[in-house]
Amino acid sequence: MLDIPDRRVKTGISHRYLRPAQAIVDPDLARTLPAEVVASAGLDVVCHAAESFLAKPYTEREKPASPGDRPPYQGANPVADVWSQKALEYGGRFLRRAVENADDLQARGAMMLAASMAGVGFGSAGVHIPHAFAYPIAGLKHEYRPRGYPEDHAFVPHGISVIVTAPAAFEFTFSSDPERHQRAAESLGGTDLPETLRELMNDRTQARDRDRRHRPRTTKDPARRRSSRPGPEESRLAGPAVLRGPACGGAGSG
Ligand SMILES: [Zn+2]
Repeated sequence: MLDIPDRRVKTGISHRYLRPAQAIVDPDLARTLPAEVVASAGLDVVCHAAESFLAKPYTEREKPASPGDRPPYQGANPVADVWSQKALEYGGRFLRRAVENADDLQARGAMMLAASMAGVGFGSAGVHIPHAFAYPIAGLKHEYRPRGYPEDHAFVPHGISVIVTAPAAFEFTFSSDPERHQRAAESLGGTDLPETLRELMNDRTQARDRDRRHRPRTTKDPARRRSSRPGPEESRLAGPAVLRGPACGGAGSG
């Protein structure tokens, strides 16, 4: 990542020389991660998978002159779909557990595996609107001090900068392919993708503040169950709960 706070620039850079030769995917390494860090990373995984799965298909893009001219991110494709859908399924099944219980190594391991699978998916399909918005959000919101992270500087965790726009982004893209949006929601364990993402996002903040042993999981609380998408008022209220801080929506320059 390239992050230059005084220039308000944050972006990803990639080169084949930057690729690691090995990766260690070991849930024991995540045992001491604060819940907020697991939540942010897990929400990022879910967005990687959803964006890859719902990227403009490679068959609808301009055909390159030769295979060598095909860009690294070439849009949704059948191979990436396999990985993206599996990562969505794992996100739906294991993210809440991984956030709520540091000793749940099965859930933390499954989310690390989901991160790897989603990486294979977006490695060829690419990501789109939520990630495109995430970099300016992270670049401009340097007043935000998230819980669970080192307190020596302000920043917006990547997963949070992605998830805050994801529900609206997928409402925007829904009409491009309703059936695929439905499949993405179902892979994640829901029926409506924006609503399912909002619930995951809101559960993340509520899990942090409650006594986890004595209260029901948020999505199982009948009082919170909704049969339709939240209205504008609910959506407006959900925002500050997620990105709490003086900078939320208030940076004049951005
Ligand atoms: Zn990401």
